[in-house]
Amino acid sequence: MSQGIGLLTSPGDGGRTELLLLLDVVWCCPGCGHEQQERYYRATPLHPCTLARLEQRLDHAPAGVQASCEQCDQPMDGADAVERWSLQTGFPGGHGLLQGFADRAGGRSWRLSPHQRLDVQLLPVLEPPEDIASVIVERLSESTCLDVFHRCWNPKSALRQALLHHPPAPGSCVAIDPTPGLRIVIADADDADQALALMASRLPDAWVTETLVAGGEPARGWLNGPAEWLGDLLPSRPRTFVVAAADPAQVAEAAQTIVESFPMRITIEATTPTTCRLIVEGAPEDAVTIQLDQHDVATEAARTLICPRDATRVELDRAIVWIGSATASEEAGT
Ligand SMILES: [Zn+2]
Repeated sequence: MSQGIGLLTSPGDGGRTELLLLLDVVWCCPGCGHEQQERYYRATPLHPCTLARLEQRLDHAPAGVQASCEQCDQPMDGADAVERWSLQTGFPGGHGLLQGFADRAGGRSWRLSPHQRLDVQLLPVLEPPEDIASVIVERLSESTCLDVFHRCWNPKSALRQALLHHPPAPGSCVAIDPTPGLRIVIADADDADQALALMASRLPDAWVTETLVAGGEPARGWLNGPAEWLGDLLPSRPRTFVVAAADPAQVAEAAQTIVESFPMRITIEATTPTTCRLIVEGAPEDAVTIQLDQHDVATEAARTLICPRDATRVELDRAIVWIGSATASEEAGT
């Protein structure tokens, strides 16, 4: 994860996108009792990152971290010398910050802030500040996220919950809007045409539609697709039909606000009504023509059930890494 250029997402194992986690810990030296604070940068695979996984990451965050006491130089291990810690993360594509707080005695709480955003330079916070703009809870839930952020943390969880609790029944289509710019419709296999018609009738033409499940079979052939996160539920629901749609306009809007938060100056030029070009000041000539195709990003969002704004951030971070490596190669004369 490259902190220097402010990335919130980065390619992990097998090209699977990871999301930044900021871990701040307070050490208490077992030898001399000296307290010191340190920050660690962590990441978790973005697509399978449910709220339950975030809670697990908070619980186990000190395991594996090591430090030396500033006062007596004694080596310290997270498992027995971290007193309290916090984990911060958020939506890569926009506002919405989650901060988890924990201590050795078992205390756990989460602060959800709708007007703050994840940033590599966020200051450490080790106790939840109370203010009227945030909500503090002991456990995370998608319903709390909906209340506070007006969107789900993970749209895949919303679909799974819907299939678990409201399996498709003949003659009824269920529509879910898990995030802005993303809609899911679930139906019985016999009602697939009605589900598609329902989707088409209520959405602008520009939205991209992708069938995720037909005849109880998840669509295959792409990374982070439904086969990876619905496969366990479908054998007992062989008549399931699921279609998702995403809004390309959200991609263009998000790109503009995201590049404003980058430390380098980037301008966006429209090249066609649905594509644009990113121009990075100071980057080598052949690295500046990064094309962002709103239709492609929205398709990726619909296929993998991710908010189109978050998908935009993933795409832009990928481009920034590419520019960074191109610039480094040019400077090295290769
Ligand atoms: Zn010490």
